[in-house]
Amino acid sequence: MALRFYNSMTRKKEEFISLQEGKAGLYTCGPTVYGYAHIGNFRAYMFEDLLRRYLKYSGYEVTQVMNLTDVDDKTIRRSQEEGLPLQEFTLRFKDAFFNDLKTLKIEAAEHYPAATDHIPEMVELVQRLQANGNTYDTGGSIYFSIASFPEYGRLANLDPESMRACGRIDNDEYEKDDARDFALWKAWTDGDGDVFWETVLGKGRPGWHIECSAMSTRYLGTNFDLHTGGVDNRFPHHENEIAQSVCGYKDKFVKYWLHCEFLLVDGRKMSKSLGNFHTIPQLLEMGLDPLAIRYALLSVHYRMKLNFTIDGVKAAAQSVQRLQNFYKALCRVAGQDVTDEAGTDGLVMQLLQNTADTFREALDDDLNIAPALGAVFTLLPEINRLQDENRLSSRSAARVRNLLDRVDSVLGVIIQEEECNSEIEQLMEERQAARTAKDWAEADRIRDRIQDLGYVIEDSPEGPRYYRKKC
Ligand code: AMP
Ligand code: ZN
Repeated sequence: MALRFYNSMTRKKEEFISLQEGKAGLYTCGPTVYGYAHIGNFRAYMFEDLLRRYLKYSGYEVTQVMNLTDVDDKTIRRSQEEGLPLQEFTLRFKDAFFNDLKTLKIEAAEHYPAATDHIPEMVELVQRLQANGNTYDTGGSIYFSIASFPEYGRLANLDPESMRACGRIDNDEYEKDDARDFALWKAWTDGDGDVFWETVLGKGRPGWHIECSAMSTRYLGTNFDLHTGGVDNRFPHHENEIAQSVCGYKDKFVKYWLHCEFLLVDGRKMSKSLGNFHTIPQLLEMGLDPLAIRYALLSVHYRMKLNFTIDGVKAAAQSVQRLQNFYKALCRVAGQDVTDEAGTDGLVMQLLQNTADTFREALDDDLNIAPALGAVFTLLPEINRLQDENRLSSRSAARVRNLLDRVDSVLGVIIQEEECNSEIEQLMEERQAARTAKDWAEADRIRDRIQDLGYVIEDSPEGPRYYRKKC
C-alpha cells in the first residue's frame, strides 16, 4: 500500500501524490512569539518533524516552511506590558524557540519567515483581494467578506445556515460559532503604539491570517502539497487562509491538510492562556532527558489526544534507553570479527526484512507510529537472543545496525553524537598510519570508507577529527 494521509479537508485517508514528482512542499504554522513555547506546541512541531522525516525516508525532497508570527494582537499587547519594542520583545522568544528545536532534535525547516519581514507580500495579497471583490473597508480597516466565497467553511465543516450573513470580527482568534468577516488589514489605533506600517492600504498592520497565506505562497507557490497545524488552527485560521489564498491567487492552494490533536494536562488542553504549561527548559530542569521527551511526544498517533505526564516521560526514557543500549551492543559485535559459523545470517536477513516492511506499512498508513515502534521492539529480543548465544555474526550485527540507522532517521532517538566510534577510531588510526607512510591512495580509500559509514573528517591544526554527517 502506498503512503497515505488523513486529509482534514475531505475527512478521508488519501494516497499521497505530490504535485511535483519526488518533491514535497510543506507549510507548518509556527509559533506566535509572545512567550516561551510549551510542550503542547511541541507536540504539533514533533508531529511535523515525523511527517518531514518520513517523507524524506520515503524518498521525497522536502521543502518545509515554518512561519514565525511576530506581529499580532498577542505580541503587541505583551510587548507593551513589558515596555519593550516589538522586535526586541519577540527576539527573545524566537531564540528560545530555536534552542528548544535543537534540544528535541527537531530537524530544521528550509525557511523560517517572520511576518514582519513580509509585509509587502501581505499588502500585495490584500490588493488582489480588493481587485477581485472579496473585501470591504470600514474605518480604515479592510475585511474579507465570507459571503464572497461560497466554499467558506468546507475545511471546518461549518453548517452554511449557521454562518452569520453579516457582522465582522476584529480579533485574530475566535470560535467556530463566530464565523464572520475577518480583518485582513487593521487600521492603526492608539492601542497599537508604535507598531504600524505606512502602506498603500493605509497606516496599520496585517491581520494574523493573511500572514500565512502570503508567506506560504512566497516560498511554496500558490498550490503546494501539505499544510499542517494543531486542530485549533483548523478554524478560523486555516479556513481563513483558504479563503484568502484561493480568492487572491485563483489557484487550488493546498492539496492535503493534516491536523494534530491536542496535548492535554489533566484532561484539558495545555495552553498559555490556561497557565497549565511546561516549557522545555522547565522539563530539563526536572532532570528529564530531551530524547525521552521527544519519544513521549512521538509515540502517540498524531490524531489522538496525548495526556502528558512526567511518569509518561520517565517510561519513555526506558524505551529510549533500551534502543540505545541495543544499538551500542551491536556496534561492539559489528566491530569484531565474528563469522557466521552458526549459520544465522539468513534468519537475521529475514527478521530485518519483516521489521523494515512493518515499519514502512505502519508509517505509510497516516504515520501510524505504534505498530512502527512495535516492529522495532519485536526485533530486539530476537537479536539479543542470538547475541547472548554468540550466534550473531559481525556482518549480521552491521546489517541490524544499518536498519536502525535508517529507522532512526525517522525517530531520532537512538543514535547520539559520538556513537559507535570504536570502528571509526580504528579507521582513523589506519588512515593516520597511511598518511605518515605517505601512502596517499590508501589514506584516501580509508577516508572514503569513513564517509560511507556516515562520518565526515576534518583535518584541523589539532589533528584530524571526525563527526557524524548531519541529515
Ligand atoms: P500558537 O503559538 O498558539 O500559535 O501555536 C503554535 C502551534 O502549536 C499551533 O500549530 C497550535 O495548533 C499548536 N498547539 C498549541 N497548543 C497545543 C496543544 N496543547 N496540543 C497540541 N498542539 C498545540
Ligand atoms: Zn498559520
